[in-house]
Formats: sequence, structure tokens, C-alpha cells
Amino acid sequence: MNHQKKMKTNLLAKSSSGNPYSITFEQINGTLRVHCDCKAGVLQQQCKHRRALIAGDVTMLFDEAQISELQSILTSDAAKQLSLAVSNCESELDRLEKEKSRLNAQEKAVKRSIGALLSGGLNPSSAK
Ligand SMILES: [Zn+2]
Repeated sequence: MNHQKKMKTNLLAKSSSGNPYSITFEQINGTLRVHCDCKAGVLQQQCKHRRALIAGDVTMLFDEAQISELQSILTSDAAKQLSLAVSNCESELDRLEKEKSRLNAQEKAVKRSIGALLSGGLNPSSAK
């Protein structure tokens, strides 16, 4: 016996080229999967279209008439859980971005020191 519960919805997302991308929300037995036919999406890499739509960003929709359809998809438990998991990853990305900025600043400071050392020479009193 097959009691699989399936739901499949296609929405259109904005693209820089003007031709919208097709985002497919597929829910099977409580698991939501989101597909996108953009270049990154077909390679199963993260893309801004899926990230925006799972986060409920309706400004990514190509057609305003699909707002209520998106919002209705996002009310399911599966969508809420997936959205939360993605959001946790995005927090981690933010943290890594800040860490990268901090490390870049440190790297520049050390390079400045090397430049200053080589150009200005080492002060004998500090080289003891
Ligand atoms: Zn995409």
C-alpha cells in the first residue's frame, strides 16, 4: 500500500536576464525539497532564488500573483523546519564573513609591519 502524500508547486523567481527561473517545491511524506533551474540550482548548489523563497522573501517572486501561493507553502511544518535549518546556515555564513573581515584586517596590519620594518629598518632598542 502506498500512503505517500505528495505536493508539487512551481513558482517563478526573478533573474538578472529577465527570463524567470522555475522553482519547484516538492513535498513528499513531510519532506520538502526545493529545486531551481538556474545554473547553480541544477548543480544542487545553493542559489539566491531558493534561499530567498524558503526565507519568505516575496520580492524574489517574478509574479506578484504568486505571493499567496508561496506563503501557503511556507506554512507547512516541513517548510518551517527547512527554513530554520537554512537560516541557521546563513547565520554561520554571516559569522564566517565577519571572521574573514577580521582576518583580512589582521593580514593587512602584518603586511604593513613588514613594509615598515623593511623600509624603516629595525630599531636597535626593540631588537634586543
Ligand atoms: Zn536558482
